[in-house]
Parts: sequence; C-alpha cells; structure tokens
Amino acid sequence: FLFIWTGAMAESEYMKYKDPKQPINARIQDLMNRMTLAEKIGQMAQLDRVSTTPEIMKNYSIGSLLSGGGSAPCPRATAEDWVKMVNEFQKGSLSSRLGIPMIYGIDAVHGHNNVYKATIFPHNIGLGATRDPDLVKRIGAATALEVRATGIPYVFAPCIAVCRDPRWGRCYESYSEDHKIVQEMTEIINGLQGEIPANSRKGVPYVGGKDKVVACAKHFVGDGGTTRGINENNTVTDWHGLLSIHMPAYYNSIIKGVSTVMVSYSSWNGVKMHANHHLVTKFLKDTLKFRGFVISDWHGIDKITSPPKANYTYAVQVGIQAGIDMVMVPYNQTEFIDILTSLVEKNVIPMSRINDAVRRILRVKFSMGLFENPLADLSLVDQLGKQAHRDLAREAVRKSLVLLKNGENADSPLLPLPKKTSRILVAGNHANNLGYQCGGWTITWQGLGGNNLTSGTTILSAISGAVYPSTEIVYSENPDAEFVKSTNASYAIVVVGEPPYTETVGDNLNLTIPEPGPSTISNVCGSVKCVVVIISGRPLVIEPYLSSIDALVAAWLPGSEGQGVADVLFGDYGFTGKLSRTWFKTVDQLPMNVGDEHYDPLFPFGFGLTTEPVVVVAR
Ligand code: BGC
Repeated sequence: FLFIWTGAMAESEYMKYKDPKQPINARIQDLMNRMTLAEKIGQMAQLDRVSTTPEIMKNYSIGSLLSGGGSAPCPRATAEDWVKMVNEFQKGSLSSRLGIPMIYGIDAVHGHNNVYKATIFPHNIGLGATRDPDLVKRIGAATALEVRATGIPYVFAPCIAVCRDPRWGRCYESYSEDHKIVQEMTEIINGLQGEIPANSRKGVPYVGGKDKVVACAKHFVGDGGTTRGINENNTVTDWHGLLSIHMPAYYNSIIKGVSTVMVSYSSWNGVKMHANHHLVTKFLKDTLKFRGFVISDWHGIDKITSPPKANYTYAVQVGIQAGIDMVMVPYNQTEFIDILTSLVEKNVIPMSRINDAVRRILRVKFSMGLFENPLADLSLVDQLGKQAHRDLAREAVRKSLVLLKNGENADSPLLPLPKKTSRILVAGNHANNLGYQCGGWTITWQGLGGNNLTSGTTILSAISGAVYPSTEIVYSENPDAEFVKSTNASYAIVVVGEPPYTETVGDNLNLTIPEPGPSTISNVCGSVKCVVVIISGRPLVIEPYLSSIDALVAAWLPGSEGQGVADVLFGDYGFTGKLSRTWFKTVDQLPMNVGDEHYDPLFPFGFGLTTEPVVVVAR
C-alpha cells in the first residue's frame, strides 16, 4: 500500500479541532496531537504588542499579545484603529501552520482605561464603598462591551487583592481590607464573562459570547498583605492567615468560572509566588480545581532571584515548574522560547508540564469561541464610551461617596448644599482636573493630570451644571485667605487629594495630603463654611484639619463622570456609601484593620453618614 501525501489532500483533510460540533476536550486533544514542541511553547508566550510583528506571531505560533498600561496603536486611537491593529496581529497568527488564534489581553481595570473616550469607572476602592455587587456586575458587562468594541477579548481584571495596609501603592485597586466585601465584588466576573451555567463543572473557564471577555483574577495570592504595604514585597502570615484573608475571593472567582489567574509579584513568607509550586499547582490547580490558565505578571518570572546564583534560565525553569502556563514576555521574546525549549529537550521540564499548560490555554480559547470568531468586526464600536455606560459610571460615583462629617452634629448639617444661592467658591487643585479624578491606570500606566487626556466631566463642570443659573460660581485653584474673604461666598467646596500613581510609584509611608491641598483647606475653611471632597486612592491623614472642616466627603478616584459628585452634594440623591477601609488617625497605627485588637480609628470600617435626597415640590 503506497500512500502518497499531497498538498491537496492535506487541505481537504478533516481537522477535528476546527469542528465546533466536537466536544472541547476532543478538539483540544486533536490539536495537541498535531502540535510540535515549538508550537506548544509558542502558545505559552504572551508578547508585548509594541515589540512584536504579525510575522513573529506566525513564525513562532505565539499564543497571546498584550497592551500593558497604555500602548494604544496611535495617540487618541479610535475603536476602529484598535480593531484594525488587533486584527493585523490575528491574521499573522491565523496564517501559522495550524492557524491557532492568539488572544489579546489588556488592563481594563476601571473600564477600558487605556482607550481614549472610553467610560472610566471609579477605581475598586470606591466600588467597595457602594456595597453593591449588582452594580459591579453591570460595570463588568459594560466594560466587556467597551473592550470588545476595540476587538480585544481578554482583560487583566478583576484585582481581588485584600489590601491590608493603605501605604501600598495599589490600595485603590483593592475593593476592601475585608475579604468578605472582596468576595462579594467578584460578582464583576459575572458581568465580564457572563454567568456560568448552573450545571458546569467546577473550575471550568467560561465566557458567554462575543460581547463578553475572558477575565483574570489577580494577583495570586497575598498581594495586598505585604509588610508596610511595600509593593511586590513579602507577605508574612501563617497558612491560616493566607487562607482566611487572601484566598477566599479566589474560591468565589473559580466558582464563577474565571478563565485565568495572574500570579503575584509578591512573596509569601519569603518565597516568590512565581516560584511557588505548592500554591500555584498543588493548591490552585489540584485542590481548588482551577482549570483555566495561570498567567505570570509582567516580567514576573524574571524577578525570581533567589538563590543568588539564579539567572534567567533558572527563573524560567522554576516559574514553569511552579505551574505558570502563560508567561508575559515583554522583552527578549525569542530568548524565553529558546530557553524553555532547551529545558524540555534536556528533560529538566517534563513534557507533561508543557502539555498541561497548552491544554489549559487551548481550553480557554475553545470555550470562548475564539477559533470560530478570531477576527473582530466593527459591529460593537459604538459601545465605546456610550451614554448608557456613562450613566452607569455616574450612578457608581454617587453610590461610592462616603460622607465622613456633616456639620458639628446631626442638628446642623451642611449637606445637601442649596443649588440656589448667590455665590459658591470652588477651590482645590483636584476640582478641575479630569486626570486627577481618574487616577492611575488611565490612558497611561501612571495616569496623567489635566483635562485633555480623555472625555469626561470634571467636578467643577459638574457643579456648574447642577446649580441654578443665577448662582455664581467662583473658581480658584489655590486661593489665599484674602481672596476667600473677598468672594463673600455662601459656602465653599474644596476638592483636594493625591495626584495619580500606579504600583510601586504610589507606595507612601506618610499618607499626608500633598501641598497645596492643606494650604487650600486652611485658607478656605477658616473663612467660610466649607465641604472638603478628598480625591484619593486610600484614606489620608485628615485629623489635623478636621475641626476646621464643616463637611467631609471621601470621593476616592471617581473616574470620568464627575456629575456623580454633584448629584449627591446637592441632594438629587442621598449619601449611602460606607467605608470599605478603616480610616486611621496617624500612620503609626498602621496596619490597622477591622477586627484588630487595638482598633482605634478616626472613622471605623463601615462608617458613612447618610443624607436624604431633597424632594423638589413641583409648583
Ligand atoms: C501589573 C499587573 C498588570 C500587568 C500588565 C503589571 O505591572 O502588576 O496588574 O496586569 O502589569 O500590564
């Protein structure tokens, strides 16, 4: 029997893995049987779009691409520009020998925050204060639509860190210091991915359609527990502490079918999480039955530096053996591929480990329908920044605000403020700064100051839009006391806080309000009745100013829809937000969390005054 192989026969051959009628496991197995070692290792690499070409995608059968903080295809790129760019790379992947589609991922951590004109939702700390999981689910669904509008099917969210120390530069990415609130907020996964059918097998990744995205629970595990809140540092706690505080939200995420989990830069009791076989493989995969894929953090395995002789080859070996399935490789992509290939060829890493990783990656790709719909079309571009999403963000802002003080006592409230009055003084360097109110992870990795970065409404514009036309608004960023007196304002609204920051840049041991905030508070609040609105990613030292302030509002990092702040200040809606963190008096008290033995906060966890909406009687 002579079998003659021809190109024509190869083309007409039935490819089981391409047949959507086949069960996913059969498709995975068929594809795995056809793949070479090089093709398998290519699937395990996630390259940075900036240093990659469609040819590299094709030649190395690369599994994934990312846009790290920022990296739009061009300044002010439209949804169409993004779709075009993502499709170019995808065409590269589809022209590889087996045509396995790549999956493109992005940090959409408070809306589709890298994209010009996307809706920017409040950062997680504010969402925690809403205590409203259904709202957070709706935000997830809106974010999924905006992300898909740009042709992207994968987000590195939600961050389910339980931030135990506000000195951490990522505190605002955490919903709460309390794991129960973080657990409840994993409801966002149901919005991002869609709700997993009730009869699904535990741990199976799930994505409900072309208007949903693959989610990523991060950063596994204990990222929010590092000593003094130092980013990427060491979390010192026993097994019980890890299990009872930092792990619970992973259970909820896995039950909801979260498709991917990102490993934390931090260490647990001195062992880097990227090297922790016990937690990543034995616990997450074997015990918790997580069946999606585990992704490293950006440059994460490169940071495996112990023992001191460790080099990149050692780091790749330890990271992959720990159980990382996909590696973010921002630089030196071929080096990663070459090293991993030779580790497998030398039997240092068993083929079974590679097969496990690739099977998991393919399972996510098949289950989300990527093989059937690898290329994005333009049908969703109108979803980006659409009014319904902005209305949702505004609702979230309203519900996230926490009223900490309202007059000296309940009989003399300052809020809600009258809309009809002769003159209002608005002051503070955060009052008219869209970039400041959005915070880090907005358009760029670190965020930006100013009003030009994207579209939205500043708190100053929102105030102007809310008051009666006859009410005069006087705005001064940092007025001196003389000026304040000369305005004869009925009351003042002072908006101050932190400038944007992200990750380690935001680590801060003092947690004071940066100047000119304190000067503005003392110049204004000494002379006129004032409400101070704090824009910040965490509680800050406020006690020294508290007696001079008539009303105090924590607005966190509210995002692009500043009208939500005005809605509540002027009583169109009541204040309902509750602290999702303890508000300390002095930094010497930190870390201080609810339930601690010596708990002596300025405002306790869960605190939040309420106001009733003003009823307008029609005449
Ligand atoms: C962060 C991750 C993020 C990744 C990709 C890292 O620096 O720790 O949260 O998803 O970058 O941008």
